[in-house]
Amino acid sequence: MNQLSLSRNLSNPLKESENAAFTPSIYPVQQVDTHEREFRRASQSKSERWTLRTPTKRDITRRLEKVSAEDALRLKQCCSSFRVLTCGTHTLRSYPTFRCKKLFCPDCAAERATRLGNQTETKIREVMKTIKGRLCFLTLTMKNAATLDGGLAKLKKNFAKFKRGKDWKVHIKGYFGAFEYTFNPKTNDFHVHLHLIVLRGKFWNQSDISDAWRDVTGDSFIVDIREIKDAHKGVKEVCKYPMKPVDLMTMPDDKFLEVVKMKKGTRMFISGGCFFNVKLDDDDAADDNIFSKFADLTEGDACPFCKQELFDVLVNRQQHIGLHELNAMPNVVKNNSS
Ligand SMILES: [Zn+2]
Ligand SMILES: [Zn+2]
Repeated sequence: MNQLSLSRNLSNPLKESENAAFTPSIYPVQQVDTHEREFRRASQSKSERWTLRTPTKRDITRRLEKVSAEDALRLKQCCSSFRVLTCGTHTLRSYPTFRCKKLFCPDCAAERATRLGNQTETKIREVMKTIKGRLCFLTLTMKNAATLDGGLAKLKKNFAKFKRGKDWKVHIKGYFGAFEYTFNPKTNDFHVHLHLIVLRGKFWNQSDISDAWRDVTGDSFIVDIREIKDAHKGVKEVCKYPMKPVDLMTMPDDKFLEVVKMKKGTRMFISGGCFFNVKLDDDDAADDNIFSKFADLTEGDACPFCKQELFDVLVNRQQHIGLHELNAMPNVVKNNSS
C-alpha cells in the first residue's frame, strides 16, 4: 500500500487532481436505496454498476456547468481541501475549508444526514426514557407536482393542517420528519413526500390515516405506517438524502435549474410534540462537529492512540481520502453521541 507522505511542510498541497474520482468515504452514512440498488443489479460488473448509476460529484458539476457556471464553481470548490489534525498515522479531526451547503451536493448531503441522524437518535433515547409509546415510521405522500417549490409548499401546508386535527392529537405524541422528492422523467413532474418518525400512543390503523389524510388534502391518500423495530435503522431511513442523486441526471434543464436554485434555507426537516427541537441549522454547521470527541486537541498535543505529536495540515481531496483509507479510523461518529 502506498504510504501517504505527510509532513508539516507539505509543498503545494492544494494542487487540484484531475483524476480524483469522488468517493464519499469521509462520512460513514452512505445511503443506498432500493431504487438504485435495482439499477446496479441490472448492469454488469460491480465497478460498472457504480459508475453507471450513481452520478459522482464530477458528473453533477459537469451538468451544472451548462446551466449555472456560478453554482458549478461553488460545487467544485466544496470539499476540495481539508484541514486535518493528524499525527501522520491517525486522523483526529478533519473538516473542509469550504462547504457549498447545497442540498444536491453529495458531500454536504452526507454531512447533513450524519449530523441530523446523530441529533435525532440522541433525542429519541432521551425522550423515550420518560414518555411511553411505539416508535413508528409514517410516510405521507402527495399527488405529483409540476414544480418542486409548489409541491413542497402544498405538502407543508397540508401537514400543518393534518397535525392540528383531532385524529393526529389523539394518536401521536411527537414526530420528526424529512421531506423527500423524486423526479419522474415520464410525466416530467416531482413526487414530494414526507417521511416521519412518530411516537404513537393509541393504535392508529393505516386506512384511518389514509382517510384523514384525504380529508385534508382533498386528492391524496397514499400513506404508510409501520412499527420501527430498530431505532437506529429507522432514523437512518428518515435522515437520508432529500433526493436521489440519479434523478439529477435524468431531469430536463429547466427542472434541474429549479432544484439548483431552490430557495436557500428551505426547511427540509421538521419536528414537534415530544420530539420538538430536533433541528438542523445550516448556519452553524460546525463541520468538525462529528469529530467532536477530539475537539479539545490542538497542534503540539500528543496523539491519544500513539502518543506522537499532532500537527495541523492542509490537504487536497485525494490526500484526504487516502488518509482515511490508510487509518483504520475509530468510528467516532457512532460513539460520540453517548
Ligand atoms: Zn457541498
Ligand atoms: Zn497517532
